[in-house]
Amino acid sequence: MSGLNPAQQDAVDTLSGPMLVLAGAGSGKTRVVTFRIANLIRHGVRPSRILAVTFTNKAAAEMRERALGILGNKTSEQPVVSTFHSHCVQVLRRNINRLGYPLKFAIYDRGDQESVIRAALREIRVPNESLRPGDALNNISRWKTAGIRPPEAVGHAQTDKEHLSAMAYRRYQNTLKTCGAVDFDDLLLLTEELFTNHDDIREEEASKFDHLMIDEYQDTNGSQYRIVRGLAEAHRNLCVVGDDDQSIYSWRGAEVQHILRFQRDWPEAKVIYLKDNYRCTAAILELANRLIQFNSTRYDKDLEAARFGGDRPQIWQFKDEEKEAEEVVKDIARKLTQPEFEPRDFAILFRTNEQPRAFEQQLRSMKIPYILIGGMSFFDRKEVRDLISYLKVIHSPIDEVALLRILNTPPRGIGQQTVKQLMEYAVNEGKPLWEAFPSVRSIRGISESGANAVIDFASLIRRYQKRFETEPMSHVVRSLIGDIAYQKELERLYPDPKDRESREMAIEQVVNAVSAFESSRKKPTLGGFLDDSALSGGDFDNEKEKQLAKNGVVLMTLHAAKGLEFPNVYMVGMEEGILPHARSVKEEGAAVEEERRLCYVGITRAQDRLTFSLATSRKRWGKARPTDTSRFLYEITGQADNAAKSARMAKSPRDRPKGAAKRG
Ligand code: ATP
Ligand code: MG
Repeated sequence: MSGLNPAQQDAVDTLSGPMLVLAGAGSGKTRVVTFRIANLIRHGVRPSRILAVTFTNKAAAEMRERALGILGNKTSEQPVVSTFHSHCVQVLRRNINRLGYPLKFAIYDRGDQESVIRAALREIRVPNESLRPGDALNNISRWKTAGIRPPEAVGHAQTDKEHLSAMAYRRYQNTLKTCGAVDFDDLLLLTEELFTNHDDIREEEASKFDHLMIDEYQDTNGSQYRIVRGLAEAHRNLCVVGDDDQSIYSWRGAEVQHILRFQRDWPEAKVIYLKDNYRCTAAILELANRLIQFNSTRYDKDLEAARFGGDRPQIWQFKDEEKEAEEVVKDIARKLTQPEFEPRDFAILFRTNEQPRAFEQQLRSMKIPYILIGGMSFFDRKEVRDLISYLKVIHSPIDEVALLRILNTPPRGIGQQTVKQLMEYAVNEGKPLWEAFPSVRSIRGISESGANAVIDFASLIRRYQKRFETEPMSHVVRSLIGDIAYQKELERLYPDPKDRESREMAIEQVVNAVSAFESSRKKPTLGGFLDDSALSGGDFDNEKEKQLAKNGVVLMTLHAAKGLEFPNVYMVGMEEGILPHARSVKEEGAAVEEERRLCYVGITRAQDRLTFSLATSRKRWGKARPTDTSRFLYEITGQADNAAKSARMAKSPRDRPKGAAKRG
């Protein structure tokens, strides 16, 4: 196997037992995992007995492809490369009935969760001002990742908001269960519960694989860690790779401790350190090394550049965010006139979701193709949600969130009064809403026309349930769109074709996604499609690949950039309050260290050229405010005094005299 240094080769040749590869950014950890998969297969391990876990769907697809590429596609069977969440879906699809959920359970995304929590807060009469739905969900998610269930949550609540959240949590969880639905946290939590309480299931699931490999191990949370242990305990062939300096998901419950404790939990583990960074030039790596030294809690390790020299990274400062975007994009445009560059060689990395707008505008006006990853998800569009809700109801009509969404969308004469009576009846009978439909004619307070509309709707859904069983999926979806007259509804709502265009395209994309899914699977099912779309957060695998193939400048968050690399990287908005984020500045300590790791992740994405930019004034709520240079820039450039000053300023911005914002 060429292209491996001795330490990497050692890891790739170690084919059994527990192993930890602990190494800095760009040192070839992901490469080791990929080559090791190929090596195992070469040594006779059946591909399907290998499970590799990555952090994103995109990374999974890449790894699968590369491993097979190394083998020259000589094998028809594929290794299982998956994210934690996708793998848990597989496990739950086989076993979740043991926990009282239907095997056809629905997966609720953020939008669905918001509907459920809104209803829960309404029921316990908590107004929006006392507790925002989003905050309640964040509290619930925090509890779930910590393994805290509704009854215990009350005991953990301290503030008023947390108390209200704890009350809403119980209702939220009950609604999910009656709807036969789980949220993202449940995917992990319920899998863990299955493994803990049902030895037979754990053994059965563990016996499906002989080798387990995990990339980005530093970002596993408690549940994930216990799931891994459950799967690997018997065969002990567990290889994990990671970098404690790149742990950036503690807000999602990830604990960097798991990677540092690996040797204690697996005493016979082999530990391999990789020292050479093959990605960045020495000039870039030097900054990364210097920055990360400022973190106090880390496993100290040296990272040496395998690529000498290189252009010195630059820091650019502009008067406001518009100018910043303009100049960064102009620089890209200038470089693009040279034959050696193409749009996909450039990435603009940002910390917060407000940042990309200005860059998008500039890229558009200069007609440079770009891809925004992790911005507003495809799924947040009303049209897409409507259509997917139809598919969800057809797949599992007890999914009440989806059912309520489409019952009268487009309008078909099922008024609010009818819905209210139906709901009341269902609650009294202790049945899901859908099961109240057959009795609609006998329910008091529902008009005959209302009842007819409900009956028609139910028979539409049943008709499509049958059709999905026998006919090609994309064909059925197209005909469904016709049957519910969705196009006409759009014409009614948006008489001006200009307003309609992007909505029609969104619908078309759903059909495209279904048809792409159909052609990528041997046995495509509606349930499989819904799982896929829920897990990819609206970025359908194929859709994303298509996007990346589009060859555009990549605009993405620092979080989303983990594991990736680009020849030219722009890290924009290098200001206090953005990076480090305002939230972390308030909390100090560990929170700022996490932001520093995020900055480290950003820097180490750059292969050849790195540019930092900042604006000396930036709009907040429509008003321009002076900004302070990020302390990280001072740290990188060896100006510790200024870094401390920035930190102080950020902590008490009120103390700052007007107009005194000094630029470093
Ligand atoms: P990160 O921490 O960012 O996830 P990583 O440790 O996973 O990084 P890789 O992405 O595997 O690093 O490798 C970084 C780059 O270095 C890739 O382009 C890879 O192909 C290259 N690389 C790794 N090892 C070698 C090697 N021995 N020889 C040449 N190139 C290498
Ligand atoms: Mg990697």
